[in-house]
Formats: sequence, C-alpha cells, structure tokens
Amino acid sequence: MDLGTDDPVLVLNSGSSSIKYQLLHPRTSEVVAAGIVERIGEPEGGIEHRTGGQRIEQREPIADHSAGLRLVFEMFARTGRDLTRAGLRAVGHRVVHGGEVFYRPTLIDDEVLATIDELSVLAPLHNPANVAGIRSARALLPGVPQVAVFDTAFFHGLPAAAKTYAIDAKVAAAHGIRRYGFHGTSHEYVSGQVAQFLGREPAQLNQIVFHLGNGASASAIRGGRPIDTSMGLTPLEGLVMGTRSGDLDPGIVPHLMRSAGLDIDAVDALLNRDSGLKGLSGVNDFRALQELIDAGDPAARLAYDVYIHRLRHYLGAYLIDLGGVDVLTFTAGVGENSPAVRADALAGLQRFGIAVDPVRNVAKDRVARRISPDDAPVAVLVVPTNEELAIARAALALVIQD
Ligand code: AMP
Repeated sequence: MDLGTDDPVLVLNSGSSSIKYQLLHPRTSEVVAAGIVERIGEPEGGIEHRTGGQRIEQREPIADHSAGLRLVFEMFARTGRDLTRAGLRAVGHRVVHGGEVFYRPTLIDDEVLATIDELSVLAPLHNPANVAGIRSARALLPGVPQVAVFDTAFFHGLPAAAKTYAIDAKVAAAHGIRRYGFHGTSHEYVSGQVAQFLGREPAQLNQIVFHLGNGASASAIRGGRPIDTSMGLTPLEGLVMGTRSGDLDPGIVPHLMRSAGLDIDAVDALLNRDSGLKGLSGVNDFRALQELIDAGDPAARLAYDVYIHRLRHYLGAYLIDLGGVDVLTFTAGVGENSPAVRADALAGLQRFGIAVDPVRNVAKDRVARRISPDDAPVAVLVVPTNEELAIARAALALVIQD
C-alpha cells in the first residue's frame, strides 16, 4: 500500500484500566515511541514510555483516561517531542465493538462517538473505555482527525450460517445477537502478511489463522474473506484464553445462578476474569503455566491439555468449512512464542498434509517464517501480528483519501 506520506500517526488502545499507545510512521513502519499507562483508577498507577532505546517508568495514581493521556503527553514532552506539534496526521483508535453499524475505519465525529457509546451494551467491558480514550484524545488534539478502527470489522460479512445463533430469531434481532467476531484487525493483517510471504494473491488462498494471546481466536479465511471465526457476540466465545472460558454449555449460566446463587455480574466476572487457564491452573500467563507444567503440576497440565484440545476442535472444523487449507498460521504472544503449542496443536495430522519441522519450529526469529517442511502440502507459518501498524495504516489511508 503506498500511503503517499511519511506523516506520523498516534495509535491508542484504551482498555478499562490501561492505555497502550504508539507513535509511528505507517509508511515505513518506524515506531518513534510506545508505551502503556496502567492501573487507571487504582491507587497505584503508572506509565512505561519507550523511545529511541530509552525506557522511562513513573509510578503515580492516575484518576481516569483523561489524566492517563495527559501523562502520555508529558512523557513525550520530557523526551523532546511536543505531541501537539508533532505533525500528527491522525489518531487511530482501536474500538472493540462496531456492532452492525461500523465495518470500516470511520472518522469520528459527535454522532459516531455517541453510536460507539450506545454499542457499549454489546461490549460493556470494552466500548466505554474506548469512548473515554477518544474523548480525551479529541480534547487534547482538537485539530487532528480521529479515526476508529473496529475489532469486529473484518468479520462483518460472515456468511449467515456462520454468524447466526440458533435462538428465537425475533429475540436475536431485537438485541443484536449474532456472531460478530473480534481480533479482526489482527486476522486481517496477518492473513495479508501470509499472502505476501507466500508470494500469492489472498484470493488464491484458503487460510486458518490462530491468534493466540491473552485473548485467543481462530478464523477460517477463503480468498481473503473470513467465512468463520471463533469469537461471537462477545470476545468470550471460542478458544480457551488466559482468563476467559471460551466455549461452554450455555446451560451452565442458569445452573450457576440457581445452584451457586451467583448474580449475573458474578457469572460475567467468573467467565471473563476467573476462568480459562487461570480458572483451571491459577495462572493466566502462558510462561507461568509452562513453569508449573515443568514442575509437575497436574492442574496446569490439564489446563494445557484443554487448551490444545479446543484448538484442535477449531482446526478440524475449519478444515472442513474451507474444504481444505493451503496455509495455517500462528500469531500473537503464545502463537509466536510457544513451539510446544504449535507442535501439539498439529501433532499427528500428516494424513491431512499438515506437519511441523521440529528444528524450524524452535527458531526464534521475529519475522514471518515457515515451520512446515518445504514439501508439506499445507504451509504452516508463524507471523508476528502488528495491530498498531494496521490501525495506523487504516487511519492514515482514510484521512488522505478524504
Ligand atoms: P498477547 O496478548 O499477544 O500479548 O500474548 C500474551 C501471552 O503470550 C501471555 O500468556 C504470555 O505468557 C504469552 N507469551 C509471551 N511470550 C511467551 C513465550 N516466550 N513463551 C510462551 N508464551 C509466551
């Protein structure tokens, strides 16, 4: 993509208690500075700012997103860059839920912001934080175009059979209940990188992408368009995650409410924050899980086995959905860094043309690479994701076209 300008873009990913940020040049992919504000609203907040080999950490309570963003500006100023005069061409915001309304990068005005806020009913843990981040950025950078890039956008055109839940159709329509899918920016970016790496057109490829980070999702992509994905109405469905359960019998929810006396917020917290790897083993971080497994901890072993079992279910389903696959890709923290997960997820599948070369699998390069043997019918790749770059490019492409 020729973006035609070297102007920088600020990317903001505002979570409920954090703001991740990057200042970068989308055309060259050069990152000028990056950092994270953490524990917003808690007694012990802080910021970590990295620029040009320098790393600054500062601990102080941060009242809200607006105070967090002011601190980001302060850090830039301390390291010699006034963000209000940095020639920013756009601010790109990661917005989690675009509902049925938003399915492309969108220039934010009052009306768009109000709609993103209304969509909070579909993403109560995420959209309110995104809105807070957008409000703060608009206040601090009034002259700079603000662009929302939606995590759901890539999956907007899912086939009806893949996006429809088998519940009362009127209830579903009244409450926006369908599969939306998330991590779309990553699945889109990575599947594009895959086509480039293989020197093929996206239109020629059947792909499966596993985004395995703290959150985790799988997608089946035919000819550049997703035909299925594992996350649903919310980012809770699908694979086992750090703290999220992924797929469950929906009957568990009323059962817990009746038998354990939990109210709906307690069930929501249980499934989103205290389940997944953490619920099974006590730890949500994959490296900590691996240490427990190495020390012989049976609960950690079971958590790992459930994680792999679920991954293989989606792999099997998507192989059939696609009617065969050309390339299978692992990305995000676990997908890029855990050779064990990649090997175990794909073990014993030679009859489907899927194999992992054990030497290639343990290489530590930080670039897109093949881990299958050259003569295997299915290419297996590890491709680093880069959601910030994808958001920055999308935001810049939108503002220069306007
Ligand atoms: P992400 O959400 O993409 O940042 O991914 C976070 C997850 O990646 C955490 O569970 C980390 O433990 C995991 N991770 C990061 N580095 C490694 C590594 N070297 N080996 C295994 N897991 C890792």
